[in-house]
Amino acid sequence: MKKIAVLTSGGDAPGMNACIRAIVLTCERLKLKAYGYLHGYNGLLQQHYKKLEAKDMHNLIQRGGTVLHSARCLEFKTPEAAVVAAKNLNELEIDALIVIGGDGSFRGAHHLSQHWQGQVIGLPGTIDNDIYGTDATIGYYTAIETAVSSIDKVRDTADAFERIFLIEVMGRHAGFIALNAALASASDHVIVPELFETTEKALAAMLEELQYRRDNHGSVSYIIVIAENVWPGGLGALVSELEQRTGSEVRPVILGHVQRGGSPVPQDRILASKLGSHAIQAIIDGQTGVMIGECNGEPVAVPLEQTWAQQKPLEPFCVEAMSQLVNATTD
Ligand code: ADP
Repeated sequence: MKKIAVLTSGGDAPGMNACIRAIVLTCERLKLKAYGYLHGYNGLLQQHYKKLEAKDMHNLIQRGGTVLHSARCLEFKTPEAAVVAAKNLNELEIDALIVIGGDGSFRGAHHLSQHWQGQVIGLPGTIDNDIYGTDATIGYYTAIETAVSSIDKVRDTADAFERIFLIEVMGRHAGFIALNAALASASDHVIVPELFETTEKALAAMLEELQYRRDNHGSVSYIIVIAENVWPGGLGALVSELEQRTGSEVRPVILGHVQRGGSPVPQDRILASKLGSHAIQAIIDGQTGVMIGECNGEPVAVPLEQTWAQQKPLEPFCVEAMSQLVNATTD
């Protein structure tokens, strides 16, 4: 009987539990044994694991976070650590390891596969959606939902005071959350790393739009959504720059870690269930060294190295809508 282990690593994302559940239930149906390593790669190094059974998966699909806990483990980057992990996996007679995480965790999975003979499968679990080879990642849809509901609330107070608000959303080095949240919340401007050129260009565009709105719509609120890590000098630098140039107060809001929490929305639960279940099929089919993702509604197996070697582009269809509705030019 095959033994399959799973761990969650790196930034946690809503839907990781739904994915663990799908893996464990599919294992049970196919009469495979399932184990969960705790605290990301740390559990693998310390042989810290538990047996996972279908009966423990009850009432789990709707819970945010991860019951296996997640962590970062810098030590795992060394060859010695991968050798220890391989020894521990062999000791437990694990045939295949599933890593649910982001691109860093996939690098770890690839690193392990250089030192271990068992099958290694990655499943994309990150709110940032910055993994090449899959249309979406587990947690991404919930993060958009959280960002949008927060921006809606900020909009209420911004309207009441006719204020400028600058709202920073997560995304690491990708603008997927920012772009989609800006579109869905009818924000007035969005700044994403993929389309950012210079501070001067971005400022000029914002000031021009703001002036257009003031001239045509009277004094109004103005909501700018910005992806983290984009603005040189950080959010504070943009706040002072905007205050100086507009003569108005600018209020910054950093949404931060609330975006990583909460009950997963149905889209994330469904994606997590499909990917978790399909990962077991991929293992039975002998796949290894790949991420299981979804493209155009179909499961795909993408070599792990490809998932971080290429930058995933923003959806052109979404960018088109943004250029008309959010960062709309007035000429
Ligand atoms: P994410 O998976 O969300 O991108 P990180 O980038 O923090 O998160 O990576 C998670 C973990 O993956 C790291 O703490 C480390 O244990 C492992 N990892 C990342 N990069 C490598 C690497 N090059 N080699 C081995 N392990 C790595």
